[in-house]
Amino acid sequence: MPGQKHHPKHQLTTMLLRRHGLHVTEQRLAVLRAVSDRPHSTADDIDKAVGAEIGAISRQAVYDALSVLTDKGLLRRIQPAGSPARYENRVGDNHHHLICRGCGRMVDVDCAVGDAPCLTAADDSGYEIDEAEVIYWGRCPQCVAADLVSTGD
Ligand SMILES: [Zn+2]
Ligand SMILES: [Zn+2]
Repeated sequence: MPGQKHHPKHQLTTMLLRRHGLHVTEQRLAVLRAVSDRPHSTADDIDKAVGAEIGAISRQAVYDALSVLTDKGLLRRIQPAGSPARYENRVGDNHHHLICRGCGRMVDVDCAVGDAPCLTAADDSGYEIDEAEVIYWGRCPQCVAADLVSTGD
């Protein structure tokens, strides 16, 4: 369609921000785009990606945007032991993660049940539990293969 310059993805992101009562800023749009392009990125990775996309932006502005977007539920923060926090825009489906102990690669794995909490605590100590956060630790196929090669000869 000649003359039409709408960017569907951009519009969707703008609507998402508005729906959550957030001001639409170039920084927030860029951060959301960066996270949706590379799920499970660290704040550092997102800072680099956003800087490459829109140029001058302070590290603090990126961190602030990440924290507002996480608080409002547009992003999810995953905090694996011994690793910086990772961010993703797949929210609300209670999915879990597989993490490689070798290279740190993280992938999504659907929730076993689909509803939170998907595990029943053996003893809830009277807590009203609304979430069970599951991280499966292991080694990714590449790391397993690399190990086989290096010990194979
Ligand atoms: Zn690995
Ligand atoms: Zn995920």
